[in-house]
This record gives sequence, C-alpha cells and structure tokens, in this order.
Amino acid sequence: MLKKILTCFTLMLVLTCAATTTAFAKAAELTGITAFELDNDILRIEISYSGGRLDFGNISTELSSGILRVDLNNTLPGRVSRVSGTQIQSSARESVEKIFVNRTQENYTRIQIHFRSMIEGDVKVSLEPANRSAKKSDRIVLDVKKNFSSDYDFGNGDGRVIVLDPGHGGSDSGAIGPSGVTEKSVSLAVSLKAQKLLINSGYRVVMTRTTDIDVAAPGVSDAVELQARVDKAPPNADIFISVHCNAFSNTHANGVETYHAPGAVKGSRLARLLNEELERLGGLNNRGVKAARFYVMTHTKCPASLIELGFITNPREEQLLASNDYQQKLAQAITNAVNRYFNQGGFD
Ligand SMILES: [Zn+2]
Repeated sequence: MLKKILTCFTLMLVLTCAATTTAFAKAAELTGITAFELDNDILRIEISYSGGRLDFGNISTELSSGILRVDLNNTLPGRVSRVSGTQIQSSARESVEKIFVNRTQENYTRIQIHFRSMIEGDVKVSLEPANRSAKKSDRIVLDVKKNFSSDYDFGNGDGRVIVLDPGHGGSDSGAIGPSGVTEKSVSLAVSLKAQKLLINSGYRVVMTRTTDIDVAAPGVSDAVELQARVDKAPPNADIFISVHCNAFSNTHANGVETYHAPGAVKGSRLARLLNEELERLGGLNNRGVKAARFYVMTHTKCPASLIELGFITNPREEQLLASNDYQQKLAQAITNAVNRYFNQGGFD
C-alpha cells in the first residue's frame, strides 16, 4: 500500500517536471550566419546560435528558384539581420547574393539565402555542437551541392523575385463551378504553369503554396491565412500576384478582371498590364481594372495585384478554366504581363 503511494507520487513528480520543462523550453537565438565555399562543389552555410537547443525537428529547408529557405522554429533572429551578423565570405560571393533573416511568427525565424544562379540540388543539414577551442558556438551546417553553371543567364527576368499566390487551397476550396470544378485547383494549376514560364524567363518565383494545402492551417481566420501568404514574400520581392476565379449567383456573369489596392501607383500599372494580357490571350469579356482593399494587396510591401481569371460559376467559363490548354494560355498571359511590367520602362 505504502509502496503504491510512493510510486504514484514519483510518477506525479516526473509528470510535473516534464510539463515544466516543456513550458520553459528556451528559444534558441541566432548569433551569426556565414556563407563560404567548402570546395569547388560545395557551398557551406553555418548558422550559429546559443541559448536553446535545436534538433532536426526544428529545421526545415526548401531550395527552389535560386532561393534557399530555412525555417527554424523555437528560434529568434536575435541581433542577426541582413545588415549585421551575416557574412558572405569572398569565396562565396560569386554564388551568394544576399541573406535575409526575419521573424515570421513568435519563436519562428526564416532565413533566405539568395543565390546569383539557379542553383538546384540537395541540401545536407547537420548539427554541430559548440567547440570552445575553435571559438565556435552551436551551429546548423547546411551544405549545398553546387550543380549549376555559374554563368547562368537570367534572361529578361534578371533574377527579379515574383511571388505567385494561388488563391484558396486545402480546407478552403474557394468557389465551386456547376460541374464541380474548384477555384483552388484552377488557381494552383495556372500558377504552377506560370511559375515554369517565369523561371524559364529568368525570374525567381516564390509560391505561397505548390500543393493543395491551407498555407497557415485549416480552420484559422481569413486574416491569419492571408497573412501567412503575405509572409511568404521575401523582403526583396518585386511583385506579388494573387490568382483567383470569380463567382456569382447569376451563372451568366462572365469575364476577367484585375485588382490593385486603392491609390497604389505601381500596383495599378501591374493590374492594368495583367488585365490587357488576360483579355488578349484569354479571349473573355473584359470587366476592367478595379481598386479594392483585398488583404493580400494592402498588406504586401511590394506592388501587388489580384486577378480573377474568369467566372467558375459560368458553365462555359468553368470548362475553359478547367482545361489544360486554357490554363497554359492564362499562365502565358501572366508571364507576358510580368515581362512588360519590368521591360517597358516607366515606373521602374
Ligand atoms: Zn478567390
């Protein structure tokens, strides 16, 4: 009996301790980021931190369109930012253009390494403990195998950063057409096609999503979901385009329209070019360029436009929007508009 009580007590104590440890798990704080060439093939990025413990579960990486994104949870940027604490050593300057660090949520840090070339391939992540004699703190070590040609030609795009935001996704299907085509599937298909075309034209493309997911999480408020999309835009994003389909109770409603935030000079130029190209390549009724206070246009720091590709509630347009050929045309229209935005002089 006594033994039983003791066991119980011990167990309770352990549980209490475990709970306390979790509640006070200290966030790591970045102390520096250094990029250098390990040898001709491998670029190494060392991320130093102190104050907390990180394991592989805290780290996720994604390399695409010449940008390596490193998301660290339970981590704070500390005093490391683009201007202080990051170092691109001379051996890496040919490959690495910039390193951005920002806090995306509480205890959540995103590092973005922009390469000068369309680097592709594997990123090896390892964790190195502090080494006092070498005066090194705890580090995350990223080795990027450089299988790219260093004289990659960016073409027209010149490495500018385009953010594509396929509207809706995951638990939010967006509008649904009379035969069941979902807005989220059309917006994603067109955006993925535009991504390819833009990369081929020498742009870097950041997608807010590439699969059928909620960008923040299922069931969160619209503001939280939309802010998560805005947060995907790196600080040096040049433009942000949100891709949607229109819907109305009257199934005869039809045509394309594009939006910009009220008073946004560059945004309205972008919206106008997108509108012209969509009209030209899409062949639908043009409902014009409009100003509206959509979240993704008023919260992004770069010029932004939201485009409605057509009415998914209109049976004829629903079929067009679902067809591979028409989606390809729409993607081409977006790419043409982006090319015109950057090459036609004027505001930029
Ligand atoms: Zn929509």
